[in-house]
Amino acid sequence: MISRDTTGSFKLMKSMNRALILNTIRTHGPISRADIAKKTKLTPPTVTNISGELLKSGLINEGETGVSKGGRRPILLTINWNSQFVIGIDIGVRKVRLILTNLKAEIVSKRVEKLPVPLTADDLTGIMTAAVKKLIDAAEVDPGKLLGIGVGMHGIVDAEKGVSLYAPTLNLKDIPLKDVLEQAFRIPVKVENDAKTLALGERWYGGHGPDTDNLVCVNVGEGIGAGIIFNNRIYHGNDHIAGEIGHMVVDIDGPRCSCGNYGCLQTVAGGRALKEYVLREAALGRETSILEAAGGNPDEADGKIIYECALKGDGLALEAFAKTGRYLGLGLLNLIHLVNPPLVVIGGGVAKAGDLILKPVQNLVKQRGITEKAKRTDIAISRLGEEGTAFGAVTLVLADFFALEAKTEKR
Ligand SMILES: [Zn+2]
Repeated sequence: MISRDTTGSFKLMKSMNRALILNTIRTHGPISRADIAKKTKLTPPTVTNISGELLKSGLINEGETGVSKGGRRPILLTINWNSQFVIGIDIGVRKVRLILTNLKAEIVSKRVEKLPVPLTADDLTGIMTAAVKKLIDAAEVDPGKLLGIGVGMHGIVDAEKGVSLYAPTLNLKDIPLKDVLEQAFRIPVKVENDAKTLALGERWYGGHGPDTDNLVCVNVGEGIGAGIIFNNRIYHGNDHIAGEIGHMVVDIDGPRCSCGNYGCLQTVAGGRALKEYVLREAALGRETSILEAAGGNPDEADGKIIYECALKGDGLALEAFAKTGRYLGLGLLNLIHLVNPPLVVIGGGVAKAGDLILKPVQNLVKQRGITEKAKRTDIAISRLGEEGTAFGAVTLVLADFFALEAKTEKR
């Protein structure tokens, strides 16, 4: 009789082999069974057996024939990208962004929901659940073909339990995001901090090349967070707070932050600091076109309006980007000296300002990097656009499905 343990390890071995084969077809397909066996070092019968199961389940296709190396021309296998679908959710401070994609992370359907102020945890989970239902309906996808849901949530997240531990800007604690979504939709749910999610999205779909095993991705919106990918793994730290550079203190006597401390980086850099600087200077009588562009309502003077005014040459708008960009550069310089990554990618809402934010950051790092190599650290704006974190959320599920790369793992 086979003991339960043996059955368990046999099952594990089989699912690992299955993931290995799937991932090999994903990265190298169209590919023959013989070449899969060569690349994975699995035996040809194992490859034939498991690819037979994958064909039966519809996850892969048998298609064109390859070049013969003597004998029959081999039949090539490819992933059936539209056999399953994934939902990615980006929970920001003001809105929830959702995308539904195929296995190639190609968007089938998307939605944005605004969040009311103030907001309770129940409001948030209610809005999120309703939005997922609408997204699935709009995509006209068979719910049986949904592989899972990934969630990128701002603030401190326990990725193992799928709980938002603390969202300072919303002043919310202990939101059981994974439980709520799994109960509502009966599919696996992965939850991760938004900057870490974005970093994973960058690693897979950011176009930085397959060899970027180490990278830091900084999400700059209202707040600032960093996702650190180290040896192909998301780095969480001991209690899920690794990468919270928005709360790195850069001025001990600085302004009060939403977290209760004083002089955190995000009080002087990032979207909120940008707006506050502009409004403060305008209130002191500085000449600017920003308030007029905001229809006379200071509340409406958001990053987009300040950006547009800067492009038209508004002195205060240009100065606001230069100043907050310099502070962001200071935060990134500290991060570069701490982690020493080859690449830092800036994403999030503020990244839309492109060179206006990138140049002051690059200049500061060039001036103050501790060595010539530190000064030359590659710093780039994310190419994933405003859906970057939602792509990352999709990647949380895909990384698990294809199992081998950039898995989220504690420490
Ligand atoms: Zn803070």
